[in-house]
Amino acid sequence: MSTIYDKYEAVIGLEIHAQLQTNTKAYSADRNEYGSTPNTNVSVVTLGHPGTLPMYNKRAINFAVKMGLACESIITEDMIFARKNYFYPDLPKGYQITQDETPICTGGKVVIKTDDGQDKEVTLTRIHLEEDAGKSIHDLDPFNTLIDLNRAGVPLIEIVSEPEIKTSQEAYNYVTEVRRLVRYLDICDGNMEEGSLRCDANVSVMLKGSKVFGNRTEVKNMNSMRNVQKAIEFEIKRQIDLIEQGETIVTETRSFNAANGSTISMRSKEAANDYRYFPEPDLQPIQVTQEYVQAVKEKMPPLPNFLFKKYTQDYGLSEYDANVLTDDKSIALYFEDVTKSTKNYKSASNWVTVNIKSFLNEKAIEISEFKLTPVQIADIIGLIDSGKISNSVASQKVFPLMIETPEKSAIQIAEENNLIQNSNADEITELIEKALAKFPEKVEEYKSGKKGLLGLFMGEVMKLSQGKADPKMASKSLKEFLEK
Ligand code: ADP
Ligand code: MG
Repeated sequence: MSTIYDKYEAVIGLEIHAQLQTNTKAYSADRNEYGSTPNTNVSVVTLGHPGTLPMYNKRAINFAVKMGLACESIITEDMIFARKNYFYPDLPKGYQITQDETPICTGGKVVIKTDDGQDKEVTLTRIHLEEDAGKSIHDLDPFNTLIDLNRAGVPLIEIVSEPEIKTSQEAYNYVTEVRRLVRYLDICDGNMEEGSLRCDANVSVMLKGSKVFGNRTEVKNMNSMRNVQKAIEFEIKRQIDLIEQGETIVTETRSFNAANGSTISMRSKEAANDYRYFPEPDLQPIQVTQEYVQAVKEKMPPLPNFLFKKYTQDYGLSEYDANVLTDDKSIALYFEDVTKSTKNYKSASNWVTVNIKSFLNEKAIEISEFKLTPVQIADIIGLIDSGKISNSVASQKVFPLMIETPEKSAIQIAEENNLIQNSNADEITELIEKALAKFPEKVEEYKSGKKGLLGLFMGEVMKLSQGKADPKMASKSLKEFLEK
């Protein structure tokens, strides 16, 4: 059944602010640290006292270049900073140092999945450098707004997308991918609850197939991925309802209210400030040379898309497994290390995505706290592949025992606990004879066609061997025996 909502399509453009994990602030030597005692990381530079001079942070520039390279953006060679003037209590200088006409990166893309799982490139408009404002705290004191200026001057990159995102799910996937990238690059911790990654969503709707975008609203204050999605869903529906009632959409900034999943008007764009942008007079223009960009490129860590391709195309892993492996950088790097010591990629992937991940989940720990080294995991795989232990003995016995005594090698554990699998042909023949002797009638039934009984005999052989018979070998000999 089609509804009024099916007549419309949404147009979404996202602006993501990512706080850069530098030691000091964007234009001063003040510490960049979340959670310090309020107003302790604040010098006269951050406060913009007359006569003080900002200095740009080289590391912040390095981080922005990394993000640009990861998104295949064009890196701007000659750039300047711009002063954006406005008054706000948490902006002590009365202006923000940002970039206007020369953002450090232009163009580029972020690859996301559409609602039906296809790859889609979302074009970036630009990535620019700027500084954060302080924080106004409204809910700590019943009568006053408190101000913490520790955040003032923290370096940010703002990543602006073209209005190419079509659904709230795509927006969710986009923010997820940007977060994964900044984490792989180690430039931002991506924590939306603490505000180190923030997303503003620009949303408009138009009749399906139309070429003319509707008026947009910009929604702020979503502190999780899910809330970004919810805010956009609410906004799309709100706008369609209004249009259907014959009203027009007012271009405005709205705030998301997590308590009831709605958005409310904050300020209209008509009343927006004229920011009087002009080149920041206290900072020199900066040259980002080709050589510099090349040097950064050479030190780039592997990125999730690159690893995904390697795992599916070169290692023959399923897309599902490749996704699980690349979702989290530390898991991917662990897997990378396992594959330095074994060429059995399928098995390495199983060990990481199944055995190790379920162990981590069960203990609620991170892979950084996991006791076994990638080499030890590769050793277990080697023991299985050489037929010394079976897969089930490896995961049910050797693996847990190794976690208890990580200083011991896999082979040591297997030997000490008498777990080495029996692939001695004579011994296996003996076991088979014993097993079959136990069920003479069943053997007759098998011979007259009840082949399903093989499982019963196998079970008996494995039981007699206390789980140590090499199952492949045992089953092969067993069949030969019965066909005689
Ligand atoms: P502003 O400073 O007004 O927020 P920006 O250039 O920083 O402007 O950001 C504009 C954002 O809005 C971009 O992400 C862009 O893709 C998006 N956008 C522009 N027009 C529309 C529209 N009609 N519907 C939805 N998003 C839009
Ligand atoms: Mg904006």
